[in-house]
Amino acid sequence: MSVEELSREIILDHYQNPRNHGRLAQPTLANRGHNPLCGDEIELSIGIDPNEERIIEIAFAGRGCSISQASASMMTEMVKGQMLEEAAAAAQSFTQRMGNREPPPQELEQDVDALQGVKKYPARVKCALLPWTTLRESVDLYRHREPATVAGDDRFDCADAP
Ligand code: ZN
Repeated sequence: MSVEELSREIILDHYQNPRNHGRLAQPTLANRGHNPLCGDEIELSIGIDPNEERIIEIAFAGRGCSISQASASMMTEMVKGQMLEEAAAAAQSFTQRMGNREPPPQELEQDVDALQGVKKYPARVKCALLPWTTLRESVDLYRHREPATVAGDDRFDCADAP
């Protein structure tokens, strides 16, 4: 089987059997990404261990083309368990690989390598990048979040208490 055929099968498998699909009940943060060119949508929910700054849980929901959804599945599989720093670096490295002119690898070391073949179709590169861009934004959001405050509902209850 050629690398191209193998890549197509891996992408199809992730599309049809997405890993880490759904929404976390109590995510540390949730974030959405949208690719207007293709109509792809990705919603990430991430559970972060604040002491280690590690991604302990991650799930995605969304809709769109097979490339965007398969890429999201691969991304969650790859960064689950990683430190935020590692995950951000993985996203950056993936983005660079999708943007350079190097030919796709002749061997697939990990599932995510299957997306390198998409480079032949420039219009689809944004589909492959969407989950990773959303991940990078999520890490930024987490790093720049406001310190935890009392939730609005609690305040309301207090004010209304007899
Ligand atoms: Zn797409």
